[in-house]
Parts: sequence; C-alpha cells; structure tokens
Amino acid sequence: AKKIGRNKVFYFTEHLNEKLSRRIALENDLRSALTNQEMFIEFQPQVELSSEKVNAAEALIRWEHKEFGLISPGEFIEIAEKTGDIVKIGQWIIEKCCEYLRTHQDKMKDFTIAINISPYQLNHRNFSKHFDDILKTNGISTNNIEIEITESLMMENMERNINKLEELTSKGIKIAVDDFGTGYSSLSYLLKLPISKIKIDKSFINALEESEESKMIVRTIIDMSHNLGYKVIAEGVETLEQLEFLKNHNCDQIQGYYYSKPIKMQKLLNQYLNE
Ligand code: C2E
Ligand code: CA
Ligand code: CA
Ligand code: CA
Repeated sequence: AKKIGRNKVFYFTEHLNEKLSRRIALENDLRSALTNQEMFIEFQPQVELSSEKVNAAEALIRWEHKEFGLISPGEFIEIAEKTGDIVKIGQWIIEKCCEYLRTHQDKMKDFTIAINISPYQLNHRNFSKHFDDILKTNGISTNNIEIEITESLMMENMERNINKLEELTSKGIKIAVDDFGTGYSSLSYLLKLPISKIKIDKSFINALEESEESKMIVRTIIDMSHNLGYKVIAEGVETLEQLEFLKNHNCDQIQGYYYSKPIKMQKLLNQYLNE
C-alpha cells in the first residue's frame, strides 16, 4: 500500500469528520427547518422567445441554515429524500406557490410556476390528491402550474410513474421533463409519458459554443420535440450567443443567468409582472 504521511492522514480524517458532522447536523436540522422558517423559495424567470415576455418562472428552494448559512438544494434535497423530510418540504413548496398565485392573481392569472417534484414525493401515497386539494383550497387553476420531473426519474419504475403522472395530467397539470438528454431515455418510453415540455439540460447549452456536435444535438432535440408536439425550454442560458442560437432554432422558452438569476417573488412581480 502507498504510504501517506502522518499529517496527511490526520488532515484526511479531520476533513472527513467535518463533512460527516455537517451531514449529520443537516439531517437533524432539516426536521425543524420549515417550522423555524429557514426555508424560502426563489423564482427564476422563464422567457417566451416569440413574445420576449416572462410568462413563467421555476420555483427553486433555498435553506438559510443558522450555522452554515445558505445551503444549496443540490446538497440538502438528497438528504431530505433520505430522511423522508422531502414529502413535507415538497408539500410546503406547492402550498407556498399556490399561495403566491392566489395573493397575486391579478398579475399572475396567465403566469405559470414550474415546481420541481422529487421521485419520493411523486411516489408518496395521495400525492396527486394532496396536490389537487391545495389547488382547490387556493382556487388555483391547473393552468398556472407545471411540474418538472427529471428524465432519470421517469426512467425508473416506468409503469408506476406513467400512472402517477396520468393522475396529474388528468387534472390538467402540465409536466416537463427536466435535465433532458442526461438520462438515456428510450424514446419509445418517452412517447408513453403524458408530457408536454422538454427542458434541455444546461450541459448542452453550456457546450454550444464549444462544439458543432452540441449545436447539432440541441437542434435535434428541439426539432424532435416539436415533431412530437412538445414545447421546448433551454436552461442554463448564460450568453447572448446561446440565446441567439436558440432563438434561430425556434426554441420556445429560455431560462438562465443571461436573463436573470433566481429572485424573490416581490422582485419578480416588480420587474416582470408590473403591467
Ligand atoms: P434544476 O431543477 O436543474 O435547477 C436548475 C439549477 O440551475 C438551479 O440551481 C438554478 O439556480 C441553476 N441555474 C439557473 N440558471 C443557470 C445558469 O445560467 N447557469 C448555471 N450554471 N446554473 C443556472 P439550484 O437552485 O441550486 O438547484 C439545484 C437543483 O436542486 C435543481 O436542479 C433541482 O434538481 C433541485 N431543486 C431545487 N429546488 C427544488 C425543489 O423545490 N424541489 C425539489 N425536489 N428539488 C429542487
Ligand atoms: Ca428543474
Ligand atoms: Ca434542470
Ligand atoms: Ca439538475
């Protein structure tokens, strides 16, 4: 075996301990994060290219931890899925979004909020019933809601997922396939799903300037989606060049830092819904 110096081993275990204790702390603190009001939602505008209007936004959860500061959902969603807290947190996000839609219904009546749904949430019993109840309680039309489910999730438990998703679409909720292109979908399976939008993963958008291949891939995804009757949105759009490319190839919507970072609801209302 390779010899490592004593200090290195020490550093390594220290580092590991630190990571582990952070994880354990997060696992514990997740339980009370909602009641302590440490969670909030930001909204990232989605721009419709034909009208150049912000007609939708994706809801993205944030956790302001009292000790560690802002924690990315990339870190804590996975933990919440493991502890089961995702069900409660996911429910809260839906409630919160519906509350916003109701409070600002004058400005938001033609606006769509896209909500990320975790597989654990989707497979929880009564998910679609709960969803429906929240919509009814707030008097929200299903037109105002879209859900995003990652491509890789859709590929697992196919039969069950098709049923779950059909329960939602039968109520009028639209479904977008998130991170498209990263999950090795079988196209024949994709065709069986009741989806209405494809969200091109940001890795492809990111690579647009670097290779002809990625241009071809993005163009092909857009054309294929349109031929199948789906809308297409590109995520992670950061440059004017990317935007122009997507516009020239008839992508329906874009989302990304080029246009706006995720922002608070008040700012969304002030900046984009103020007519
Ligand atoms: P996602 O659904 O793919 O969300 C897109 C992520 O890309 C977001 O990160 C967003 O802030 C970031 N992003 C947006 N525009 C750009 C850009 O131009 N460039 C780059 N490099 N990044 C951009 P965020 O907010 O950290 O979320 C990370 C992931 O956490 C999300 O990926 C999603 O899988 C998950 N997540 C976030 N909110 C929720 C939620 O409410 N529920 C569930 N189940 N998962 C969530
Ligand atoms: Ca998403
Ligand atoms: Ca995505
Ligand atoms: Ca992602």
